[in-house]
Amino acid sequence: MALLKIAKLGNPVLRKIALPVDPDDISRRDFQQFLDDMFETMVQAEGIGLAAPQVSRSEQIIVMACPGEGGFPETVLINPTIVFYGPHQAEMWEGCLSVDGLRGKVTRPSMVRVRALDRKGASAEFDATVLFAVCIQHEMDHLIGKLFLDRMTDLSTLTQLDEFDRYWQKEHATVI
Ligand code: ZN
Repeated sequence: MALLKIAKLGNPVLRKIALPVDPDDISRRDFQQFLDDMFETMVQAEGIGLAAPQVSRSEQIIVMACPGEGGFPETVLINPTIVFYGPHQAEMWEGCLSVDGLRGKVTRPSMVRVRALDRKGASAEFDATVLFAVCIQHEMDHLIGKLFLDRMTDLSTLTQLDEFDRYWQKEHATVI
């Protein structure tokens, strides 16, 4: 296992459109190793999601995990598409491992139906709600060169981390 270097705001790789993965490559040992490295990097950085462009690999690969109540299981999404958006919106604080020290409120659909390949290369389709749904949309934005900052409709909520902890901590923040 190895920790990967996280690309930060301003790195052009974060603004590229990620390429789809060749499904035949998923079973390769080096690909599986890369997934393990992504999980290790995400956990070490205390995130709940990580997209491959964030570690300078511009491919459609996402890992996510959020243990505990209200969380979601270890998930790998390869070549994901959202096939349905629910009608309701959720407003949540978001942060990003590629954007140090900032939080901001983003409004997104609170339910999505996702189709993707899993780490075995099998096609899966499932519904996600609330935190899981927001995390999926945040990570999928990384695959099209978008950051949560681009999704903020009200920049007045943009908050530095120490001020967030002081004034806004009670509202749940999502670091993805
Ligand atoms: Zn992010």
